[in-house]
Amino acid sequence: MGIMEDAIAGRITEEMKIVAGDEGKSSEFICRGIASGRIVIPLSPYRQTRPVGIGKGLRTKVNASIGTSSDIVDIEMEVAKAKAAKEAGADTLMELSTGGDFNEIRRQVIAATDLSVGSVPLYQAFIEAIRKHGAGVDMTEDDLFRATEEQAKLGTNFMAIHTGINSICVQRLRGQGGRFGGVCSRGGAFMIGWMIHNQKENPLYSRFDYLLEILKEHEVTLSMGNGLRAGAVHDSTDRAQMQELIINAELADRAQAAGVQTIVEGPGHIPIDEIEANVKVMKRVTNERPFYMLGPLVTDMAPGYDHIVAAIGASLSSAYGADFICYVTPAEHLALPNVEDVQQGVMTSRIAAHIGDMIKLGAREQDLEMGRARRDMQWDRQFQLAMDPDTAMRIRDERAPSDRRVCTMCGDYCALKIIKENIDMAR
Ligand code: SF4
Repeated sequence: MGIMEDAIAGRITEEMKIVAGDEGKSSEFICRGIASGRIVIPLSPYRQTRPVGIGKGLRTKVNASIGTSSDIVDIEMEVAKAKAAKEAGADTLMELSTGGDFNEIRRQVIAATDLSVGSVPLYQAFIEAIRKHGAGVDMTEDDLFRATEEQAKLGTNFMAIHTGINSICVQRLRGQGGRFGGVCSRGGAFMIGWMIHNQKENPLYSRFDYLLEILKEHEVTLSMGNGLRAGAVHDSTDRAQMQELIINAELADRAQAAGVQTIVEGPGHIPIDEIEANVKVMKRVTNERPFYMLGPLVTDMAPGYDHIVAAIGASLSSAYGADFICYVTPAEHLALPNVEDVQQGVMTSRIAAHIGDMIKLGAREQDLEMGRARRDMQWDRQFQLAMDPDTAMRIRDERAPSDRRVCTMCGDYCALKIIKENIDMAR
């Protein structure tokens, strides 16, 4: 019996109660959201995790993706990244290793965290086919479903699965005359390469019912991958991306009917004036399924600062209704992220999520409190409220003022102090 059956039957579970408490909602609200497919709580029957709710009416959640590459395989670093992500406030973790012993890495990362963990089984199946047969395109359909099951049994809570790339999408990609930025999704590239080489339909699409059986059996939440997201702002919101979204929307209805919790992933690289349309169209065509926005990156011009670029996009997408955002680190487009990159990526995404929630949920109480604490020069209260108190305290202490009421920015000429001494501003 899965959480969706419980929700449809109106049974309130412990996980629903925890999420309701965290979100300041009633358990019935969470239960109804899951039953309608608008909220998910990714679970796993194989391990205990801290339940997190994703979807309509809930705080925007932040995912941190970690994992090895073919060049850098350092399990200790991946475990440290998992811990740093949690410490910085990530809501979920995706373990996306493409180098080393996949099962061992995933086992160690999962053992090191109580966050819900996501994965992409296609990465493992495709790369194991390269190791076994010399070419990823020799991956069999069974390899793919076996990797899905194997990862589920390790305690994976949700999986990004590239269900929506079918032959019509590939035709659209060709028909529109290619792209300026190509295809940036690893899973998308693997699957398109496999389909063209084997002249076959994507098995994640053609055998979708079988995929659902596996996900249902192991209670994995399906995150429908956006394999055709633009990898350059000049390709944003193109026909291939929209085609994949429509297919995923149809498949999401089938997943719902099969009792599989479903998230739908979005772009990618898009300019800020297309974010609202992307979120609203996606929400509309999927009947308001939880929307997982990857960034989005709103310019291609700032490598080294892509965490900030993505945070600008993520704050807008959250404000317009995205439910879940995947962080981007300063290493994006440059290198495998290290522990510090992960920490910075999570913090900037959390800031973006909060900015979005101020609009989407009208969540402004903390900002009001911070405003008052600043006005009254209550430094301890400011640090209590700060999203990253340690960084805030460190900066203040490194350049400490002689008058503890002010800071060294304006010192004796602190505007707040001058006004406080002359006018009662309390409200
Ligand atoms: S010194 Fe300037 S920056 Fe610092 S608290 Fe006062 S007004 Fe703000």
